[in-house]
This record gives sequence, C-alpha cells and structure tokens, in this order.
Amino acid sequence: MRVLVVGGGLMGSAVAYELSRLHIEALVFDRHDGGRATSAGAGILSGETSGVSDTPYHELSRLAYAYYAELADALGADSIAYGVSGLALVALAGDEERFQETRQALRGRSAAVSDMEPDELRRQFPALGAVTGALFDARAARVDGRFLETRLRAAAVAQGARFERREVLALDAGDAGVTGVYTSAGPVAADAVVVAAGAWSTRLLEAVGSTVPVVPHRGQIVHVEHPPAQGPVWPILEGFRGHYVLPWPDGHVVAGATRESGSGYAPWFTAEGQAEVLAELFRVAPGLRPAVIREWRVGLRPASADGRPLIGAMRNVPGLYVLTGHGPGGLLLGPYSARLVAAEISGSALASDLAPFRPDRPYQPDPANAGI
Ligand SMILES: Cc1cc2nc3c(=O)[nH]c(=O)nc-3n(C[C@H](O)[C@H](O)[C@H](O)COP(=O)(O)OP(=O)(O)OC[C@H]3O[C@@H](n4cnc5c(N)ncnc54)[C@H](O)[C@@H]3O)c2cc1C
Repeated sequence: MRVLVVGGGLMGSAVAYELSRLHIEALVFDRHDGGRATSAGAGILSGETSGVSDTPYHELSRLAYAYYAELADALGADSIAYGVSGLALVALAGDEERFQETRQALRGRSAAVSDMEPDELRRQFPALGAVTGALFDARAARVDGRFLETRLRAAAVAQGARFERREVLALDAGDAGVTGVYTSAGPVAADAVVVAAGAWSTRLLEAVGSTVPVVPHRGQIVHVEHPPAQGPVWPILEGFRGHYVLPWPDGHVVAGATRESGSGYAPWFTAEGQAEVLAELFRVAPGLRPAVIREWRVGLRPASADGRPLIGAMRNVPGLYVLTGHGPGGLLLGPYSARLVAAEISGSALASDLAPFRPDRPYQPDPANAGI
C-alpha cells in the first residue's frame, strides 16, 4: 500500500513516521512555504492550564502528552530538546478575578495543578515580575518543533519513507475516491492520500467537495538570549493574556506569541505584533528587559472553527484522510494525532474515539473554546 502525504511540517513528518513504522509506504510532498507553523512553534507541551473547557480536547491532550515520553525514548530526548520543566500560570495586577475563576475550574479538572507561592516561583525564576498568585503544573514539558520534525523525518526515512520538495496542485479524485495527486512534476498514484498541509489544506479539499473550516492564525514570537541560569532550567510562565515565556537549558528564552485571526496568508512581522510580544514579556518577566534579541519567527497556525483538530478519514471520499487544524496546540497533539491517522489507514484498532475530531463533523463554534 502506498500513502501519499501532502505537507511535510510536523503533521506530515509524524504521519510518515507512524505509517513507515507499520511497514506502509509513505511518500511526502512538501512545498515548504514561508510561514509554516512548525518552524515557528514555541514548544510548550501542556494542556492542563489552558482556560478551554472542552472535554474531548482535554482527553486528547492528555493522551498526546503521555505519548511524548514514548516518542522521546524512540527518537532520543536530547535530540528533540524534550524535557519536563514545569509551568506556572501567573496573575499580575488586574488578573485577580480571572485567576480565582481559573483556579476553581482547574481544581475540578486537573489533579496535576497546585498553588504556588509567588516567592517560591521567584526563587525558581529570578526574572519574574510582581506576581500576585501562581498555579503550577509540575508535569509541563517542552520540545523543539524544528528538531522534532527533523528527527521524525530522519526516522521515517530510515524506515523506508520518502520526502520530496514538491508542490501538490490538486487531488486526483473520481467515483472510486482519491487515487493520487497532481504535482508540479506530474501525476502520482496512491492508494490513500493524507492532507497535512497545515493552514493551506482547505483549497485542496474544497476542490473535491470537502469544505473544512480551517484558516491561518498568525503568530509572531521572539527568541532572546540572557546569561545562562545557574541550576535547573527556569519553569515556563503563562500569563492571562494568551502569552507565555519559555526558557531553554542553553539559557535562551522564547516569548510569544501574537494570536492573529484574520491575518490571511501573510507571514510577516508587524510593528504592533512585536510591540505586543515584548510588552507582555516585560510585564511578566521584567528581569529579561536587557536580554539580547536573537531572532523573530512568524508562523501561520492552522486554526479550525470549533478549536478542535481535524483527524482521520473524510468519509464521503474513499482514500482521503485529513490531519490538520491543530491551531496553537499542534506540537503537543501532532504526534499522537498522526498515530491515530496511521492506525486508521492500516485498519488497526484506534486508541481514541475519533468522532469529536472527524474532518466531516458538524462544526459548532463554541465560545468556551475561544482560547484553543
Ligand atoms: C508562534 C507559534 C507558537 C506555537 N507554539 C506552540 C506550542 O508552544 N505548543 C504547541 O503544541 N503548538 C504550538 N504551535 C502550534 C504548532 O506549531 C502547529 O499546530 C503545528 O506546527 C502545525 O503543523 P502542520 O504540519 O499542521 O503545519 P505546518 O507546519 O504549517 O506545515 C504544513 C506544510 O504543508 C506544506 N504545504 C501546504 N500546501 C502544500 C501543497 N499544496 N503541496 C505541498 N506542500 C504543501 C507547507 O509548505 C508546510 O510545509 C505554535 C504555532 C505558532 C505559529
């Protein structure tokens, strides 16, 4: 069986890895667009402190988190910069009401999250600002999305998968379903096609009558250097304005990110976006004001209308599978979602119920999921 994968970001690389593990031939075509989300992703692996109250999403997040330990063992934890460093959700002046609401909600939902005294957090994160309250998830981890994609691709190739820099122009679909794709270098036949083209997935699917509500959400994010911390890696910080600060063992810190719906396919930096990211970094961690800017990155998150990812078969078109719409949680969810798609293609038993994530589900925008 030959499976053709459109898109070689994290989703495409992960599904090629999982398919080739199952001895299924995988061929990945990637156009490598500017603004691909995987190249900009921060790397936080935690679903526990999100303000979102969507039960299927949380269940998927927990399974995806658990799968990382296995994946890190298989790929080599250091090679993907995987590590557990904990995450503190912090309140500053003006955040008190939201802090108390979130504290209540998380207590009912997650045993992993506990209160932390601001002084204790300051001991662990000396650059911290005037924090009035903190909730701590000791299990939260990090991964470098670029390293992860590279390692998955290398492991997939070692297992027999192939990757090519090539554009897929259209799916080849008829009464029998999808039988291949048309590419910039001619048609290619396949037994099944996985559309894992990130924020660019919709046009290919629309052309075969499968409209999915996935749009680009731009994220601008900064990497700064500060003198390497002595001792353990500082924990991750999350504020109440959708931003975060993610320290790495080499002493550099990632701070982000903007969440720009309506950005379109425009992967560029804006003065407003950069000012927003730096203002929030300085509010939460003023001790990082003198840090040296290493790099800005920008990516287009594939965001779905109801906040849930799109995983599995498009049931009205035989042979067509979708793996996109992971929005701001794709680094966490992606490897596990890819595993589910590969299992479905191979006909194996599925470890999770895909019903809430089917690409052909009815989409009901839910304000409770606005933070996803
Ligand atoms: C600023 C930012 C911070 C983030 N932080 C986190 C985080 O901390 N934790 C977390 O879990 N997630 C995070 N994410 C989300 C995560 O990065 C994404 O959900 C994930 O990387 C999406 O991967 P993807 O493979 O679906 O899309 P992409 O990485 O965008 O890859 C899609 C690929 O498909 C290719 N393609 C498109 N059309 C075609 C075509 N017709 N033919 C061939 N190739 C095509 C593109 O060129 C691209 O290479 C963040 C994202 C951003 C932008």
